[in-house]
Amino acid sequence: MPTSVITGGAGFLGSHLCDRLLADGHRVICVDNLDTGTLENIEHIRSHDFVFLQHDVTEHITIEETVDEVFHLASPASPIDYLRLPLQTLKVGSQGTHNALGLAKRHRARFLLASTSEVYGDPKEHPQREDYWGHVNPIGPRGVYDEAKRYAEALTMAYHRQQGVDTHIVRIFNTYGPRMRPRDGRAIPTFIRQASEGAPLTVFGDGSQTRSFCFVTDLIEGLIRLIRSDEHEPVNIGNPEEYTILQLAEAVLEAMGSQSEVVYEALPQDDPAIRQPDITRARAILGWEPTIGLADGLARTLRAAGTGAGARA
Ligand code: NAD
Ligand code: UDP
Repeated sequence: MPTSVITGGAGFLGSHLCDRLLADGHRVICVDNLDTGTLENIEHIRSHDFVFLQHDVTEHITIEETVDEVFHLASPASPIDYLRLPLQTLKVGSQGTHNALGLAKRHRARFLLASTSEVYGDPKEHPQREDYWGHVNPIGPRGVYDEAKRYAEALTMAYHRQQGVDTHIVRIFNTYGPRMRPRDGRAIPTFIRQASEGAPLTVFGDGSQTRSFCFVTDLIEGLIRLIRSDEHEPVNIGNPEEYTILQLAEAVLEAMGSQSEVVYEALPQDDPAIRQPDITRARAILGWEPTIGLADGLARTLRAAGTGAGARA
């Protein structure tokens, strides 16, 4: 039975990855300090092949059994989390990534870094291809996250080139689904919470900025295909269907049968104006593409939370 280590395994994406790997017959070791994750995300897991280690990955990671794969997801991910935890975000991207790569090296395990579309910053090329180097403000508020991930990518390539570690880098575009925290500040859980409370939906700026939203199960499939591939350069994983944030708010209202109004609030500094993955590389190398569109994904998210128009019908 292969053994997979998942750092950040008690978070939103990490907990779905735990579920999927256990279902595939893996032993799973989840390493998390619960900074932004929660035990509620993994409390449903009953398997004897699941181990939870409460541990901060900026400290040395010791695992005294065979490890075949290391998925390194530990990092604050929502803007309100990394703005609240700026130094921890830089440290987990740097020292935490060193430690996770060191673990993979000692165990001769495959390694996957969860990087992000934020490495492209406020992009000047559209859609974003992996060979675009990005447009990031290193000293703005988002710099702590963007630069931590850019450093983590550089470090991962150095471990690959100099140390021969079997590394992989996924650039994850906005992903959503069940288990996002209602108050994590990201657009989809915020709009769902606001609509379910009958409160106005807070659209930042004029709502014309765009994002491309991937449902979590599609994303997880992409991570698994990538870590088992021969590709060492970054690969975008995301859903290329692009929406303005105003269109997203309207899609949430529709999915929930809500009459809430939309109110406009100030646009945060350095908020990217556009974002859409070019997934040509993922299609060619992994045979991967998303299967779940926004309306379907929102309905699945609402069903899991027991809320929305479908739940009330
Ligand atoms: P999340 O906040 O739900 O999960 C992150 C997990 O990492 C949490 O469980 C947290 O407690 C843990 N963690 C943070 N610092 C740690 C440390 N020092 N030691 C151990 N554990 C630590 O966020 P998520 O959305 O599940 O994101 C997971 C990963 O995917 C992150 O690396 C994030 O940058 C990346 N990502 C996510 C998205 C997305 O849309 N969800 C987009 C791009 C990249
Ligand atoms: N956003 C918004 N209202 C909110 C939360 C977010 O209009 O209550 C906007 C935010 O300004 C950004 C987009 O939605 O333009 C996506 O934000 P999110 O925090 O989900 O992800 P990211 O900015 O990291 O892509």
